[in-house]
Amino acid sequence: MGIKIYNTMTRSKEEFVPLKPGEVSMYVCGPTVYNYIHIGNARTFISFDTIRKYFEYRGYKVNYIQNFTDIDDKMIKRANEDGISVKELGDKFIGEYFKDADALGLKRATVHPRATELIDDIIDFIKDLENKGYAYNINGDVYFDTTKFKDYGKLSNQRIDDLEAGARIDINETKHNPMDFALWKGQKPGEPGWESPWGVGRPGWHIECSVMATKFLGETIDIHGGGSDLIFPHHENEVAQSEARSGKPFARYWMHTAFLNINNQKMSKSLNNFFTTREVLQKYDPEVIRFFMLSGHYRTPLNFSPDLLEQAKSGLERFYNSIHNLEYLLKGAKDKDMSDTERELYDRIDTYEDKFIEAMDDDFNTADAISVIFDLVKDVNTNLNADSPKVLVQKALKKIRDLGKPLTLLQKSTMGKLDDEVQKLIEKRQEARKEKNWALADKVRDELKAKGIELQDTPQGVKWRKI
Ligand code: AMP
Ligand code: ZN
Repeated sequence: MGIKIYNTMTRSKEEFVPLKPGEVSMYVCGPTVYNYIHIGNARTFISFDTIRKYFEYRGYKVNYIQNFTDIDDKMIKRANEDGISVKELGDKFIGEYFKDADALGLKRATVHPRATELIDDIIDFIKDLENKGYAYNINGDVYFDTTKFKDYGKLSNQRIDDLEAGARIDINETKHNPMDFALWKGQKPGEPGWESPWGVGRPGWHIECSVMATKFLGETIDIHGGGSDLIFPHHENEVAQSEARSGKPFARYWMHTAFLNINNQKMSKSLNNFFTTREVLQKYDPEVIRFFMLSGHYRTPLNFSPDLLEQAKSGLERFYNSIHNLEYLLKGAKDKDMSDTERELYDRIDTYEDKFIEAMDDDFNTADAISVIFDLVKDVNTNLNADSPKVLVQKALKKIRDLGKPLTLLQKSTMGKLDDEVQKLIEKRQEARKEKNWALADKVRDELKAKGIELQDTPQGVKWRKI
């Protein structure tokens, strides 16, 4: 049994079979770089980052392409407002994107192409479409003729007749059919432009993704992803132009993330109901944000609210408190033989990995995967104590970290944070208790409390947490 993926194209879960054994080619639509990314965009990027890392965890080599849309109407408008060039605007917000992405632990893509750097490839692609009779030029604007592509509508499961009935051609547009879309736009005053066979102009939006996916990954790719707002028209148009040109299927699996909502409404720049990732990062640890996002399955809408982030924060703290206890036990653990029950636990730890894989193989169910790690943490915390053999404590800790890794969670060491002074106080109290010097033990406990450390005496030994 391998990985199963919900494919938007077939509206069903399918077994993942890569084009090349052991390799995954993945294209994810990136941001339009006219502003900071909001935390809704971040949900989509975190989801695909996790999917990519899970493939790597399962031993695949992943070729991952994510673009920057650095030329479109919004870019031009914003650059004019700010009195800078479109190029300067793009440079600035690509830099800002990487700051947020790095903070969130998003692994860099294999290539992050920019639309404006691939104008020649875009022109060649459009020329191919024109030669094959799929594109027409009207006074320097080139359109894709959707009526020529018989499968138009197959991704979003719509019939072209219904789509056309619901659409109309704007009075300023010259295209032949309502669903036709611009591949190339003739230059208007005040806009940047590039020389082309159709005159000076710039690419339409959809074309860049087809060109980049083809250039870096090939005419047929394994996975194409993005937020579900992109299914129509963006991805529908990508399918049309790519398959019209190559005559081959474009992407074998189409994956779409559900929205991050605010009050059950999609978070978006146009509705002005967004928080930038930057502002959320100022209030919350990036790992709390990731934990919050991955606590839901990527195809389930997720509501964003400060309360829910607070809940995520306490949830993550519970994991780290347990990890800390294990780190503490490990420091004092001795090399010795395991008892039968300890050996049972030693073997049982691996079964959590099986369950983790089962959850993640099932269309990347991070919510279930996190519950499995939680069960593992609970199991080892109840069953390990200061007498447990070192190999066992070591194995438990390593397994928790290994399972957290593809999610980019639980990798921090809590030990480093506890400074020597606190450590010494904890030991001093232990000594006092051994000597039944309760007054001193209580005094040390209060001293620790003043430093924000709370101790709990449990049958498994002393545990502590930050308060
Ligand atoms: P944009 O910069 O608007 O093109 O968006 C970049 C990526 O973020 C695309 O894949 C979008 O589908 C995705 N996206 C935008 N808004 C949301 C949202 N509220 N929740 C999840 N993903 C989103
Ligand atoms: Zn795209």
